[in-house]
Amino acid sequence: MKYLLPALALGLAGMMTSISANAQDNTVHHQAWSIAIHGGAGTMDRDKMTPQQQADYRAALQVALDAGSAVLRDGGTAMEAVQAAIVIMEDDPKFNAGRGAVFTWEGDNELDAAVMDGRNRSAGAVTGVKSVRHPILLADAVMKDGRHVFLSGAGAEEFAAEHGLETAPPEWFATQPRRDSLERLKAQKLTAFDVDHKYGTVGAVALDMHGNVAAGTSTGGLTGKRWGRIGDAPIIGAGTYADNRSCAVSATGAGEYFIRAGVAHEICTRMRLAKEDPQTAADRVMAEVKELGGDGGVIVVTPAGDAVFSFNTQGMYRGRATSEGVNEVAIFPGD
Ligand code: ASP
Repeated sequence: MKYLLPALALGLAGMMTSISANAQDNTVHHQAWSIAIHGGAGTMDRDKMTPQQQADYRAALQVALDAGSAVLRDGGTAMEAVQAAIVIMEDDPKFNAGRGAVFTWEGDNELDAAVMDGRNRSAGAVTGVKSVRHPILLADAVMKDGRHVFLSGAGAEEFAAEHGLETAPPEWFATQPRRDSLERLKAQKLTAFDVDHKYGTVGAVALDMHGNVAAGTSTGGLTGKRWGRIGDAPIIGAGTYADNRSCAVSATGAGEYFIRAGVAHEICTRMRLAKEDPQTAADRVMAEVKELGGDGGVIVVTPAGDAVFSFNTQGMYRGRATSEGVNEVAIFPGD
């Protein structure tokens, strides 16, 4: 009897699972999930990256992709998956977000991040944060709090302290290669792009089994940025956007152009109103960015499960996975 009851309970639970699975047969499309991630776009030359460097980036992208995929496969939300992938890349010094962020002109690491939930278009964003280990989680806390969408600098830090976000000292974020880039930029009077040859912002977009999309982006911005410069990443509609009626987008590139073109929102709007497919919408908006003089790339996921990339740079660190068995990471075009 002692063993029979749990067995009966298990049997019943099994039956209930299959009943609810049957009951959902007419909404099969909601069982699909997909995720796309990026770790920046730019001048990635096969000949200039050693095989080891290429393997390291691919492995790092795969770890982040796997973390996000696992959340979705287990029935978690798109927002949870996006954050699971991004926190890993924020801790990885290879990417320009969290640890390994680029330096400002003054020699600090100032971090920007944003999240957006496609269910109800709630969003949270932060800029100019210096001591929060995971800016993406701070953006999430701003969204959950709900009173404001976008917090900056000292106020954002104060909010982080009140909400118990994990902090890290300046040494955590600062890495020598990024410091060297700042020195080179100053000594040779280079632009951020000339000195780095690539953008290392990280982002993720996802569709969960419940049919909801979400987007997140995290960055250190551009090397040598000054005067409290804010890029596109934390600006809702520029570098980050999500709307269940169309898609979820995260961008990387020359932020000023992405702000001017309203890239992420524009892609969603083209899909929603002009009924463009995600690849066409993303390609057309990236062409606009190019026309203005900017470069970079985007990742897009739709409620139908598409996961697409579009970039007008030589390469983009990227990856995608779906419930249909797609699981790939890539750096160069045609990878
Ligand atoms: N988009 C970022 C910015 O302009 C830079 C990047 O993509 O790495 O701040």
